[in-house]
Amino acid sequence: MTSTTEPSTSNDAISAERILPEKIEDIVELFTVHTTDVPTSDADRAAKMAAPKFGTVFTDHMARISWRRSQGWVHRRIEKYAPLQLDPATAVLHYAQEIFEGLKAYPHADGSVWTFRPEENAARFARSAHRLALPALSVDDFVGSIAALVRVDRDWVPTAQDSSLYLRPFMFASEAFLGVRPSDEAEYLVIASPSGAYFAGGVKPVSIWVDTEYHRAGPGGTGAAKTGGNYAASLLPQMEAAAKGFDQVCFLDGGTNTYLEELGGMNLFLVTADGAVHTPELSGSILEGVTRSSILQLAADRGREIVERRIPIAEVAAGLQDGSITEVFACGTAAVITPVGRLAGPTFDVTIGDGDPGELTMAIRSELTDVQYGRAADRHGWMRRLA
Ligand SMILES: *Cc1c(COP(=O)(O)O)cnc(C)c1O
Repeated sequence: MTSTTEPSTSNDAISAERILPEKIEDIVELFTVHTTDVPTSDADRAAKMAAPKFGTVFTDHMARISWRRSQGWVHRRIEKYAPLQLDPATAVLHYAQEIFEGLKAYPHADGSVWTFRPEENAARFARSAHRLALPALSVDDFVGSIAALVRVDRDWVPTAQDSSLYLRPFMFASEAFLGVRPSDEAEYLVIASPSGAYFAGGVKPVSIWVDTEYHRAGPGGTGAAKTGGNYAASLLPQMEAAAKGFDQVCFLDGGTNTYLEELGGMNLFLVTADGAVHTPELSGSILEGVTRSSILQLAADRGREIVERRIPIAEVAAGLQDGSITEVFACGTAAVITPVGRLAGPTFDVTIGDGDPGELTMAIRSELTDVQYGRAADRHGWMRRLA
């Protein structure tokens, strides 16, 4: 056992103990490195990394740990990135017992590579595992696996402005059987994908359709867990909204169809004319974003009033029309902060800020990315060095 902290399985505010640099060194040592026999050449890597479409280019290796109910987590390793061979009866393919995370490795000007609040992702991964009846992975193994992979594939960390190495840890039920019960076997992997600036050519506000027909999650469901099924449930609504000409869908609460929840993969914020920053309170069916909690901190640091509450969509539509709500933005690791320029539903359609991103929206966005890329002081101790 390498675990010293028992990850929380509650849905309380994210809180994980800071992992120390010496600790990361110790855990990285536990991973056996089997390097690929067919490494990508420098020229091919440069070509692949020139303008990668999000999530299409992967590094030469992946991190992996296996779990057996009788043995626990075993066989920590870095191995060649390669297709998985799965028995057709593998549990995840039938009952969707799987979870994932998303975080980034950021290049700093001195050549070092860092990540942002990985303990929070690790703690959330453990909470997601609990909800999906999967085994908890320790914070140490989570952060250690990322550090071990980034060290082996360090040359794949892009250095262009606002680019990063996107990291995708995930875990799935790997036992081959068709009975409905929690799997006795699981695989944990981390893959890595070089990605360019999310908004190449400048941050552009998106349009959002507020869906009153479908929900991504419901009371007592899996909305607070980062699991593929929530995303599967969001695809048809997303497709239908796209057909109406919208970029993204905002879901309402599944209980009353009244309160704002979030987008398929991003949390939502409002700024009111008095300067306060509002976001839907964690309802049990909202995913608690690391970006969300970081923005709440940065807004509070600026002396802004923070309001986490149930926000009726009717109030938002009216507030945008009468000017009492001045900015709307969405947030998540991939896009950081995305300004919302238009919000519409069956009974309203409002334009926000004449197509320009909001002032506070952009100020917090710059502040956060400056910390992540090492351009500003890390006041809150959020950054961890990986390589
Ligand atoms: C991942 C995710 C977010 C954003 O979380 P971050 O930790 O900020 O990246 C928001 N909503 C959903 C549904 C998500 O899956």
